[in-house]
Amino acid sequence: MLAIPGAHVAGVHFTEAGILVDLKRRAQRLTCPCGWSTRAVYDRSSRVWRALDLGATRLHLRAEIRRLDCRSCGRVRTEQVPWARPRARFTRDFEDVVAWLAQRMDKTAITRLLRCSWEAVAHIVTRVVADHVHDTRLDQVYRIGVDEVSYRKGHRYLTVVADHDRDGAVIWAGEGKSGATLEQFFNELGPQRSQQIQAASADLHGGYARVIAARTNARLCADPFHVIKLANFALDEVRRAEWNTARKGAGVSRPTPITRVRQDPAAQLLKHTRWALLKDPGTWTESQRDQIAQLRRARHVLFRAWVLKEELRDLYRLPLGRRPDAHLDAWLARASRSRIPAMLALSRTVRKHRTSILAAVDLGLSNSKLEGLNSKIRLINHRGYGHHSAAAVIAMIYLCCSGITITLPTGR
Ligand SMILES: [Zn+2]
Repeated sequence: MLAIPGAHVAGVHFTEAGILVDLKRRAQRLTCPCGWSTRAVYDRSSRVWRALDLGATRLHLRAEIRRLDCRSCGRVRTEQVPWARPRARFTRDFEDVVAWLAQRMDKTAITRLLRCSWEAVAHIVTRVVADHVHDTRLDQVYRIGVDEVSYRKGHRYLTVVADHDRDGAVIWAGEGKSGATLEQFFNELGPQRSQQIQAASADLHGGYARVIAARTNARLCADPFHVIKLANFALDEVRRAEWNTARKGAGVSRPTPITRVRQDPAAQLLKHTRWALLKDPGTWTESQRDQIAQLRRARHVLFRAWVLKEELRDLYRLPLGRRPDAHLDAWLARASRSRIPAMLALSRTVRKHRTSILAAVDLGLSNSKLEGLNSKIRLINHRGYGHHSAAAVIAMIYLCCSGITITLPTGR
């Protein structure tokens, strides 16, 4: 009934704390967690593991556990048992159920359901992840995406590397958002596997691009999301500049009473346009459509800036047969003639990164999956897993975003 691998039941005790089952091992050989095995016993003791409940009754397994002097590890280690992970005080089945639930529900609910502590859940997640995340995941990596994600209300950052060829699955995460953090990834990857990377998408700014260029021969791709973010930022700068001019025109220098702004037509035109300008035109409301139409009729500088932003976005949705390089060069020419300072600055940045922007279009790489990680981390925090450390958040990212499949005891 318990289906314990490698042992049979030697005794059953009904106690205050639940049912205690004594196990007797079948194998005489001792196996180190590293795989090395021997017949020589260093010493013996007894250990108790918590197993999945029997109905509403707690169940514990007790067995003799031995230590061995491992010639491979060069030290004394505790033997591996078939029903539990090294150092665990829970059975493998129990831990798999916790990990499966942690992918799906909040921590408090798990502690109530399985009657274990918060700390136990955190340790189990770390152990199960270590069991599933192998170095071999880095063997066949050809196209990566690198990005920073924030945790703990944006004050702390992680660097995350995803595999574009595995549907954006996370293959590595480390604490910090500098180039030095990414260096750790390439150290782990090693020179041979680093050279095998053909393309890498990342933010235009920051140290990532520099490290990727130094450690790989990959084609560098400017992540479209970040390019559009820069364009939106430039557009917002135009809007703010225009708003300030309009306010000065109305003779108001300090915080403006709403009534005075309403009287000024230039300022009124700008009011509430912010979201319409940033949104996709397909999702405009009736009044937002109207606002943009007014700006267009007025041949407003903000309308011209908005058109430039949308034309840059078009780079990523060109109809088949249109050449991206021609589109981008025509855009650069228009932007540099626009006489709008924020758009001039944007065109300089885009020109500087022209090659990597076009590489991203050519290879169709985008870090959109990585951007989705920010909301996943918010969910992980909300469910109570990310509070104590970066290591806890990283373990949960591996558990939930790296494609780990947990098989439930009932599914074996
Ligand atoms: Zn060993």
